Amino acid sequence: MAPASEHAPRPIPFADLQAQYRALKPKIDARIQRVLDHGQYIMGPEVEELERALSAFTGAPHCITVASGTEALLIALMALGVGRDDEVITCAFSFAATAEVIVLLGARPVFVDIEPDTCNIDAGTIEAHITPRTRAIMPVGLYGQCADLDAINTIAARHGLPVIEDGAQSFGALYRERRSCNLSTIGCTSFFPSKPLGCYGDGGAIFTSDAALAQTMREIRVHGQSGRYRHTRLGVGGRMDTLQCAVVLAKLGRFEWELQRRRELARRYHAALAGVRGVSVVAQRPYGESAWAQMTVRVPRRDEVIQTLANVGVPTAVHYPKPLHHQPVYEHFAAASDCPHSAAAAREVLSLPMSADLQEADLDVVVDALAGALTA
Ligand SMILES: *Cc1c(COP(=O)(O)O)cnc(C)c1O
Repeated sequence: MAPASEHAPRPIPFADLQAQYRALKPKIDARIQRVLDHGQYIMGPEVEELERALSAFTGAPHCITVASGTEALLIALMALGVGRDDEVITCAFSFAATAEVIVLLGARPVFVDIEPDTCNIDAGTIEAHITPRTRAIMPVGLYGQCADLDAINTIAARHGLPVIEDGAQSFGALYRERRSCNLSTIGCTSFFPSKPLGCYGDGGAIFTSDAALAQTMREIRVHGQSGRYRHTRLGVGGRMDTLQCAVVLAKLGRFEWELQRRRELARRYHAALAGVRGVSVVAQRPYGESAWAQMTVRVPRRDEVIQTLANVGVPTAVHYPKPLHHQPVYEHFAAASDCPHSAAAAREVLSLPMSADLQEADLDVVVDALAGALTA
């Protein structure tokens, strides 16, 4: 990004990772320096320290850090034995990684539509998609709000199916007083820099309360080794490196505050947007509290709105412009007319600047600009 001229107003950051770094600089720098000093770049002491800390945070007895959120989902599916010609039920409206890992294993993603107001998987339509080939159900906590896991777990239990929660966006969210990633058979998250809890590269984690599954996933993470150079199952090179674990450890001390702050900013956005005609916000269910990975609204004439906002220095993003079953690589898994609510959302959703370090004054500028764009 080109440096802003001294006189131009500071552009509003979409997610202010630099302000976060400034606030945590002594802690992060010291944590990184410690790793450089001990030199255990792979599986150093910070890896286990982070796994313990994240277990304590989520309440899930077992945590396995991995190379990314995508790797977390892949390892979870591998541990459950998902393979060729199996089916995995998931949401048509998500980031591509959710479907990608299913297809990589030779299995078939079965796309279920969203609830139009929350943009999360419609639990009520899952059961109709279960067949003798179904091996797992994979809901996503889109934009930071958990899907209705109680309803999903009940359906899964009725059919003896495991549930993998894709909590890449919902890490830190609450669902009936419990944390995201500790709500089902396996919970997966990502520490991609812009996620609610990010590192400074790629990283992720898997959570479970099943000790045997945890052991299996630890082995898969390191090339399927049950002992040094003893490869008893197919695995991957899926470790999270020590430096990235050190960064997350440094950030964890501020995470609760950041979640509170995101919630306050979301409330302020909702209050301000209530008076803006043409905008609707993503509905929040009373069963929990979102981690507010994104502050997403729905607007008409989205391309024009994006341009008008960009012209006044307000960055936006679209999560996501196409539902998964309309993507060239996945379109043969479903009819184009399936999941119409996902298709409608993909045309209208717009994510506004959101991070714990977003300034209230900047938030007000965003809302004013959006109101202006919609009345123009
Ligand atoms: C970001 C994301 C992933 C993938 O995480 P990476 O760490 O980028 O691999 C998976 N699912 C969802 C819903 C995500 O938002």
